[in-house]
Amino acid sequence: MKDCIFCKIINKEIPSEIVYEDEKVIAFNDINPAAPIHILVVPKKHIETLIDISDEDSSIIAHIYQTINKIAIERKFANNGFRVIANCGKDSGQEVMHIHFHVLGGKKLGDKIV
Ligand code: 5GP
Ligand code: ZN
Repeated sequence: MKDCIFCKIINKEIPSEIVYEDEKVIAFNDINPAAPIHILVVPKKHIETLIDISDEDSSIIAHIYQTINKIAIERKFANNGFRVIANCGKDSGQEVMHIHFHVLGGKKLGDKIV
């Protein structure tokens, strides 16, 4: 999608620190990390908000959670634990209108983060 910053990252039009990539998803470090580990896991399909997820997208969403687990195991933070956050729409403060899952860890997280 034109003018979408995450589509530009997916298309390598703007650089990012890529952590994981396959045909369905990309994961990269957040540019403004809120914790020592702050990775964004993003489907390559442009879906604007969580509310726009359709039945046909269910395999993508399952794949996102499998990818998060793979990254957590590979990067050795699975045992210590982590938090996954996905903002949806205005009240959540969603800034980038292409769904993404924040994976936060690397320290004991407080009650509120991101
Ligand atoms: P949201 O508030 O939409 O849930 O989160 C958007 C996240 O994307 C923010 O944590 C922000 O730091 C991150 N972000 C925005 N633009 C870029 C970018 O160009 N590169 C990277 N790596 N992260 C970005
Ligand atoms: Zn997009």
